[in-house]
Amino acid sequence: MQLIYEKSRPGCRAITFDPLDVPTATMPPQLCRVSPASLPEVSELDVVRHFTNLSRRNFGVDSHFYPLGSCSMKYNPKLAEAVAAEPGFAGLHPHLSSDRAYLPQCQGALQLIYETERLLAEIGGMHQVSLQPIAGAHGELTGTLLIAAYHRARGHPKDTILIPDSAHGTNPASAAIAGFKVVEVPSNGDGTIHLNAFKGVLTASVAGVMLTCPNTHGLFEPDVRRICDLAHEVDALTYYDGANLNAIIGQCRPGDLGFDVMHFNLHKTFATPHGMGGPGAGPIGVGERLEPFLPGPRVVPRDDAYALEWPERSIGRIAAFFGNFMIAVRAYAYMLHLGAEGLKQVSEHAVLNANYVHARLKDVYLSAFPARFMHECVLSAAPQAKQGVRALDIAKALLDFGLHAPTVYFPLTVKESIMIEPTETESKATLDAFCDAMLQIAERVADDGQRLREAPTSTPVGRLDEVRAAKELNCAC
Ligand SMILES: *Cc1c(COP(=O)(O)O)cnc(C)c1O
Repeated sequence: MQLIYEKSRPGCRAITFDPLDVPTATMPPQLCRVSPASLPEVSELDVVRHFTNLSRRNFGVDSHFYPLGSCSMKYNPKLAEAVAAEPGFAGLHPHLSSDRAYLPQCQGALQLIYETERLLAEIGGMHQVSLQPIAGAHGELTGTLLIAAYHRARGHPKDTILIPDSAHGTNPASAAIAGFKVVEVPSNGDGTIHLNAFKGVLTASVAGVMLTCPNTHGLFEPDVRRICDLAHEVDALTYYDGANLNAIIGQCRPGDLGFDVMHFNLHKTFATPHGMGGPGAGPIGVGERLEPFLPGPRVVPRDDAYALEWPERSIGRIAAFFGNFMIAVRAYAYMLHLGAEGLKQVSEHAVLNANYVHARLKDVYLSAFPARFMHECVLSAAPQAKQGVRALDIAKALLDFGLHAPTVYFPLTVKESIMIEPTETESKATLDAFCDAMLQIAERVADDGQRLREAPTSTPVGRLDEVRAAKELNCAC
């Protein structure tokens, strides 16, 4: 495919401006360009065709099944898009919130922020929520900064955070950026936390424990309450990585399990579009003890209106304005649209779908763990790898079926892992088509290994050198 610059023809225009009907002003020469900007010269139709064709090469949840484990790539209802496009939200200037004089003009937005925070607090069993963090990892950073601020304020700074080996890579990265030393807690053979190993590293210098539940093996931690209790005994706070909330939403609440602070991934559980690096939103929820340290300003109801206030001992701003406000608008619409009963059904269907896929595939691909999976399942292509076809080859072969690849080689603790998260929005017919494709690929391993190692063959590009492709972007194929 040609680049839009290659389609450029001198003098071609997509737009013509009306004749000037105001006096001409002159710009200071030092602010003016010396030569014209190098922009493609193309007609309106060239632009429309170019970008429409490019978009058709995209692999997205609106066009294909996308069972990427650990990512909750669920369908984003168009209703939420319509609400976010309302001019009252889309046209609002963020600086209206910077000056008290203009607050009356953005009361609707402030109300939405306040109510979204209240809904999330209810779902998480948390005392307060802040919408500021703009990604899950950013929520983790905010949460670990809150934990640090809490211990400092009590006059007992602590320097260590405990994180299981099954954690998402962002957990140790966030804790390290917040200034903590990270100590890894091993899993047992069942894929959950090794309780004795946990007790062995739980010392007085532990500031916090970060857990994902269900963990990134797709398994509910059976000792989660005990782990929270043990942590509290040494005055360590407990952090819940809420990226897997899709598995438990409406069934149980992190606050009730014993967590002091958590983040939500609005772009996962609450169905706002994601991928390609954003935009996202990773609001954090906190129990009472951490409320005084929350980022500010906070939206609070005062005398029949919404006002802004700074918490007493705030860690400061963590993002501009109120974070990615338009993501909050979509999440708010999604929550109100589904209601409490609908949100409960989300987790029921997400768990059912993952277990259905697991049941259909587990005799051909190895099941990684003996326990019942939650919203995603982990299989292993170790038997296929012995015959020369690796998890990566299977993932690539799926593309030729018009299916997005599942996550492969994560979790790191499972050899040749294939992690499948179908989400609740997929029909049985789609799940069956996916399972059929996985089983067909497995049948071809013995006789057709070479072709599988060359897959995909029907996509615009075949196998790329993935490291080079990420560093030297080339859209011209
Ligand atoms: C996605 C994910 C994160 C990070 O969230 P981002 O919004 O991508 O920063 C953290 N933990 C787990 C378990 C995740 O799946």
